[in-house]
Amino acid sequence: MAPDSQFLRNTSFILLRESQDTRVRTRLGGIYYLLAWVLTWSFSSAPGDMQTLGLTGTLFFALMMALRWLHRLPAQQSDGCLRQWIDRHWTLILITSLGWGLAHAWALLRPEFEPSRMIATLSTVAFSTAMAFNFPMRKARCVVAILLLYAPGLIALATQWASQEALAVTLGFYLSYLLLALNRSHREYHATLTMEQQLVDQRERYDQLSRTDSLTQLGNRLQFNSLFPAMVANARRQGSPLSLVLLDIDFFKRINDEHGHSSGDACLSDFAEHMRQVFRRDSDALLRLGGEEFGVLMPDTSLEEASSLAERFRVELATAGFELNGQSLPLTTSLGAGIFDPTRDETAEAFFKRVDDALYRAKAEGRDRLALADV
Ligand code: GH3
Ligand code: MG
Ligand code: MG
Repeated sequence: MAPDSQFLRNTSFILLRESQDTRVRTRLGGIYYLLAWVLTWSFSSAPGDMQTLGLTGTLFFALMMALRWLHRLPAQQSDGCLRQWIDRHWTLILITSLGWGLAHAWALLRPEFEPSRMIATLSTVAFSTAMAFNFPMRKARCVVAILLLYAPGLIALATQWASQEALAVTLGFYLSYLLLALNRSHREYHATLTMEQQLVDQRERYDQLSRTDSLTQLGNRLQFNSLFPAMVANARRQGSPLSLVLLDIDFFKRINDEHGHSSGDACLSDFAEHMRQVFRRDSDALLRLGGEEFGVLMPDTSLEEASSLAERFRVELATAGFELNGQSLPLTTSLGAGIFDPTRDETAEAFFKRVDDALYRAKAEGRDRLALADV
């Protein structure tokens, strides 16, 4: 994989995980702001006299809770959409934080809130702690959110320095701890993501390896076994053509017998290279089915196209032969080609057998030829 596309895939993975985590962690958040405000208001000395303020705050935090809850992940998970979702969601988080910061400051400044002031201050500490540990994905934004939660209260305390000095200093210390903790949880969050991504990459690489024939670098039997039924099912569903070409090298045993097994191996990888040169479409799946037997699965390809490519391959191989130590050894292959026919191929195996029978016919009729599965 090219470094660029690897990088792009990585950013997608991280963006997707980041937005999923943000979505899961935001769900609980909203309700506590609402609860904290209702408690602060109702335990104040005169909740009845502050109905407008109380209800406005309640409405505001209820609205923010609803917006955070309703802001679902985009259906289309492209990088652009995910980035936009994350940006919008952070806007909601920041507005909520500012709302709470102001509510806290208000509770510190107004004498009616004297009895419930502690509720508001404890909530500020709780919200900013939750922020540092739940939203460390973006450090700068999280710092802003914590400051929005904290700063209005600190400013309010500063205006009453004489009586509130102890609380202001304590909150200030705690703020510095939170910023350090955020730094660490940010690092840990991204380290975990990177590790998770390496695991996913590694699994994909092993999966790819397990499906690749090491001698020819074509797909192996395992790959065929998973691709073939899927392509047949797809052709049946969409009514699109699916062609299959099977190839078996003629008298391959002789090459092994006369020139040694490693020359046989070289011949097989040469043969695979020829296949890559003729069957070039991205959608063609080139496979080594076993020993000296190969296959090409060609979706969206008519039998005419498939058989003309197969015939071209046969002729070019026979012409080129197999170059070994400067001499050209004769090398030919027999081929069978067929197209999936939903009316007669009840299963993928039935389709395979029809094409395999054609290959067998090509062998029986003298080799170095292409036989078409009967239509
Ligand atoms: P036919 O024209 O009927 O297909 O004759 P053939 O000799 O090609 O077919 P046969 O099935 O008799 O022999 C296939 C040979 O392929 C036998 C086996 O030793 C050899 N073979 C299978 N896998 C490999 C491999 O990975 N490397 C080498 N060098 N030889 C292999
Ligand atoms: Mg064979
Ligand atoms: Mg053979």
